Amino acid sequence: MKVLLVEDSLASSQVTQKYVESAGHSVINGRDGNEGIQKFLTHNPDLVLMDVNMPNMDGYQCAQHIQENCQQGNLWIPIIFLSADITEDAIVKGIDAGGDDYLPKPITQRVLSAKLRAMARIADMRKELEAASADLRRLSSIDGLTQLYNRRHFDETLELEWSRSSRTKEPLSLILCDIDHFKAYNDNYGHVAGDDALVRTGKTIMNTLQRPSDLPARYGGEEFAVILPSTPAVGAMVVAEQLRIAMDDIAIPHAFSDAAHIVTMSIGVSTYYPQHSKAGHIELLDAADRGLYRAKNKGRNRIELQPLSSEASKAS
Ligand code: GH3
Ligand code: MG
Ligand code: MG
Ligand code: MG
Repeated sequence: MKVLLVEDSLASSQVTQKYVESAGHSVINGRDGNEGIQKFLTHNPDLVLMDVNMPNMDGYQCAQHIQENCQQGNLWIPIIFLSADITEDAIVKGIDAGGDDYLPKPITQRVLSAKLRAMARIADMRKELEAASADLRRLSSIDGLTQLYNRRHFDETLELEWSRSSRTKEPLSLILCDIDHFKAYNDNYGHVAGDDALVRTGKTIMNTLQRPSDLPARYGGEEFAVILPSTPAVGAMVVAEQLRIAMDDIAIPHAFSDAAHIVTMSIGVSTYYPQHSKAGHIELLDAADRGLYRAKNKGRNRIELQPLSSEASKAS
């Protein structure tokens, strides 16, 4: 661990430093409260050992400043007070100032080493928890079967991108894809083969997209969606056609579709132009869905561009 030792007495700090270092940790020294805060900000220590009685700014005030800083950054760095004053009042004041422990001076090497071990244990546990919570965050936005983003993440992102588009005045496009006659595929080839076709379709969509900002998602059972930020309708139509061609290329046999002899998708495309439209993100979604419906009705395995309803009514 990197330990910040805030202590005004040179003799005291030399002894403590020796103890900390012989326990296998490194020490950064702060000679008073102000230097303590400054060293805290520049060195990111894992633990702070804080003297209480210091000139200008005492250990309580210094701890309070450090804790306020930690709260802003969503951090927790343990602070242990070291003081000869071990009255109840002093201890309570230390804990209230944001301290995690309070040790009597003079500190012995054994006690300090034991405390450092306990703090290192907590720090390790905290790192594991943070990693687990990052994993959970990732998992909660990914579809388990296809590894594309899930519906929840799609919904959040669509709303976010819609707001961004409204602000930047850049167009936002949406593609909705639905596999043709997929029930017949499942009924004839079985559910395992059906799942496999979904995985391959998801990979194909992911591999076809070029821009890092394009967001592919599994929208529902055999439905996929792609959010295309900063993309006008012509661009979205190009991407949709690339998706259709990519499905032709992987050519998953489907003898029970009347759209083709392979697995195909019907695709609806819609674009929000913030300069000319007052539509919300739901209307964008609704338009893509209506485009998809038209593509199905026209014979499937095709793409239909659908204007937003508010614009269609303006045009008519
Ligand atoms: P259309 O061309 O009109 O879209 O017909 P369709 O058969 O694709 O549409 P429908 O909505 O009738 O059926 C969708 C089918 O997709 C139902 C189910 O068999 C299949 N499906 C949905 N989710 C999954 C899944 O997670 N795994 C598998 N294997 N099949 C799924
Ligand atoms: Mg002192
Ligand atoms: Mg469907
Ligand atoms: Mg379908």
